[in-house]
Amino acid sequence: MIKVTCGDANPNGNIAFTYKGGCRGELDITEAYRCVGCGGWFHLDCILKHFELEEGHDNARNALRKIKDSIKSDKILITEDRLIEICEKGLEKTKPITNLKGE
Ligand SMILES: [Zn+2]
Ligand SMILES: [Zn+2]
Repeated sequence: MIKVTCGDANPNGNIAFTYKGGCRGELDITEAYRCVGCGGWFHLDCILKHFELEEGHDNARNALRKIKDSIKSDKILITEDRLIEICEKGLEKTKPITNLKGE
């Protein structure tokens, strides 16, 4: 069985880098989910968190996270223009990244 490290951004290097959302727990590759944006392997919960946190890997989830983070006790702490800008980014029709170099 092949084991992978959740969110490992540098699996063959000797310095540890972790994609946002990754917990660095070890998991079996057959149980892991892969992000087509960066090629990282994740637990299910961790990849969903990764999509919210990492810019450009899932624009819609990333936008929703930014909007949620900008709301504090029924006040929206950003301008309407910025809110619209975030929403438009989240709704943008972009081709998913399909290779591991992020191109
Ligand atoms: Zn994880
Ligand atoms: Zn990713």
